[in-house]
Amino acid sequence: MRDPACQASLGGGTPVGRELAAFGLELEREGAAQVGGSFSGDPEADRLIEDSPEAFLIGMLFTQGIPAERAWRGPWLLRERLGHLDLGRLADEADEVRAAFQRTPMLHRFKNTLPGWVTSAARILLEEYDGRADAIWEGGPHVLEVTERLSAFPGIGRKKAVMAVEILVRHFGVQLEGRECGQVAYDVQVRRVFLRSGLVERDTLAEVEAAAARECPQAPGRLDLAAWLIGRETCRPRAPRCDECRLRDVCPRRTWLGVEGVGARQSIARRTSPESSLG
Ligand code: SF4
Repeated sequence: MRDPACQASLGGGTPVGRELAAFGLELEREGAAQVGGSFSGDPEADRLIEDSPEAFLIGMLFTQGIPAERAWRGPWLLRERLGHLDLGRLADEADEVRAAFQRTPMLHRFKNTLPGWVTSAARILLEEYDGRADAIWEGGPHVLEVTERLSAFPGIGRKKAVMAVEILVRHFGVQLEGRECGQVAYDVQVRRVFLRSGLVERDTLAEVEAAAARECPQAPGRLDLAAWLIGRETCRPRAPRCDECRLRDVCPRRTWLGVEGVGARQSIARRTSPESSLG
């Protein structure tokens, strides 16, 4: 049954939007990380993400084109191979970082792209943030400011930046100004759920963001993990499991619709693009 306090704080919107916002608020109250309340499902790897803002930032770099659990395990595996996650060494020892990624089993399918992102992130943190990733959000700046700062890292960009902001608020309890300016990530799972549930008529960034702001004006980003989990677990690209879905009683079930383009299921040849979405 829905938490009455959730309902009271949800405001207007459509039945689908209210249900999604209720789910998002529940996840926020649980302090959910990403999948099943954790990042990677591996306690040691999760502990590193929890204890090290720099590892969290590196984890964001990994969240690209591979399942989320595997991505969040990346920083721990990288540290195991290198013996450190020292920013100075990550910045200066690019060849070693590259070699760590290219050893088998591979740390990431984009073994040629990730090393450069890690090295660049270390350099930016050293040069602009005094060697501390938490300096990016220290002092509770505005959501848009943090989004912009994170987007400036090669390999993060807007989609991951808005996702990171939500994780910072929801899981790490970081207090940021302007929650009403947060957003959902334009991710393939989110897009599919918004489209099939009728929150949008067209799968465009502008429509998805407008729908999130309309349905949850006090914190549009609250819908992010809720929609992402539904997309991943029940609103599958093929054979959606509507009867098990959180939105089953309110969704028009437009299951014939699917997303195309960035992040969508593509031919094997095209799936090697580093633009593919997190699974
Ligand atoms: S699985 Fe079915 S009920 Fe759930 S969001 Fe997708 S179309 Fe709607």
